[in-house]
Amino acid sequence: MKEFDVVVIGAGITGLASAFYIKRSNPKLRIAVLDRNPTFCQGNTAKSSAAFRNLFTSDVNRKITQSTIEFYRYVQTVKGFDLGMRFNGYLFLGDRKFLDNPAFRGFTERGMARYVSEHSLIEAGFRTKLNEHEVSVMNLSNVDGGLLGLECGILAPENICSYYANELSRMEVDFLFGTNVKSPLLQPIDPLNYPGEPFVWQKTLLKTIDTNRGEFRAKEFIFCTDVWTDQLLDRTGIDGHTRGKKRQVFKITGKGVEKLLKKNFINGQTVMPLTILPSHEIVLRPDPDSKSIWVTIADEYNRDYSISVDPAPELEFYERSLFPVIISYLPQLDGSKISSMWAGYYANNTIDKTHYVFKDKNIIVATGSSGSGIMKADAIGRVVAALQSGMEKTVLFDKAVINTSDLGVHKRRIEEEEIVI
Ligand SMILES: Cc1cc2nc3c(=O)[nH]c(=O)nc-3n(C[C@H](O)[C@H](O)[C@H](O)COP(=O)(O)OP(=O)(O)OC[C@H]3O[C@@H](n4cnc5c(N)ncnc54)[C@H](O)[C@@H]3O)c2cc1C
Repeated sequence: MKEFDVVVIGAGITGLASAFYIKRSNPKLRIAVLDRNPTFCQGNTAKSSAAFRNLFTSDVNRKITQSTIEFYRYVQTVKGFDLGMRFNGYLFLGDRKFLDNPAFRGFTERGMARYVSEHSLIEAGFRTKLNEHEVSVMNLSNVDGGLLGLECGILAPENICSYYANELSRMEVDFLFGTNVKSPLLQPIDPLNYPGEPFVWQKTLLKTIDTNRGEFRAKEFIFCTDVWTDQLLDRTGIDGHTRGKKRQVFKITGKGVEKLLKKNFINGQTVMPLTILPSHEIVLRPDPDSKSIWVTIADEYNRDYSISVDPAPELEFYERSLFPVIISYLPQLDGSKISSMWAGYYANNTIDKTHYVFKDKNIIVATGSSGSGIMKADAIGRVVAALQSGMEKTVLFDKAVINTSDLGVHKRRIEEEEIVI
């Protein structure tokens, strides 16, 4: 039996950031981070489109992304640890009605974004006025302009994970990889050693978890297991309030891609912004290093909620659903080829589309990242640490403060997020 004060399950970006802030606020704690994978950053963190934005409609989401972005910028520029961060922007394309929505106007008023004219988009190679078939059959809208998010861009999640993992090793936190945690059961605090315990009148806790590498005992367990949390906690009766949906990324290359990659709308940048096409929100994420664009979508298509360890991408989905839309707006991408593809999951909070971070007995759960867990991870790690140490307020990197319970279940205070990409 291995014994710790705190066991963090999940070595994705959430688990690493959480372990980091727990250890930092209480260096005496003996902490272990477990993951079934052979190393850190192999779950959904490795499958993401690796982009960040602070353009959210919910106040809490704006705060947790802004502070996380500031922290990553600090690590890259002050600490000199390359996180692959580029502020190349997020460009939303749409018709006048779409661009005129109050949230977008709010972003421009706060200096977080600015409008881009249709003329600039045409110059950059976009086709803005579509034909009857594209409009009525494919439900595509014309492009009257764009909204460009300025404190937004791309990064390398594996580098962010390496940063936290290096710090954790330095602080002597144990990593136990290849450790598959079995679905645990709550155990009586004061066992009577009768068969069938715990009885309903006994007080319970999670004292130990069972794994393929034996049992682990801890005073507290932190589940940062993203989309797999509900499955894992099923037998305890603790609900993660989240459902998983498969999301896919298709990496395309070719002459048209290379030309488009060099388009930019932000002074000083040499790479196109991450671009969200109108109507169905297909995302084009530039990857200048490999001269490719990653195509992805958070679709509301017939996609069930079943989950596995490693979902497979579907080439047909790209060919039939995504490609026809892309070439409507960017005909020059017609000759592009898929050089690789992968799939992961969004851990969707289906109600307000924001993380859950809550405590039940001696278990803390951090899940429900709803497609934006990397750009929020530093703040979420701080919320987990605040909850673990009983702090009512969480102070974020940029000194913004949120109520720790805002992201919880019982005293939750989050507006529904309208921008999920
Ligand atoms: C296609 C796609 C695109 C995305 N794009 C973006 C984006 O651009 N920006 C952004 O911010 N977010 C994006 N996301 C979301 C982002 O990837 C997630 O929110 C984030 O990675 C969640 O991190 P995590 O640490 O909570 O989960 P994970 O990285 O999945 O980590 C959970 C870990 O738990 C471990 N685990 C689970 N069960 C067990 C068990 N029983 N025993 C031991 N270990 C276990 C897993 O092995 C895994 O390593 C995207 C996601 C996808 C799929």
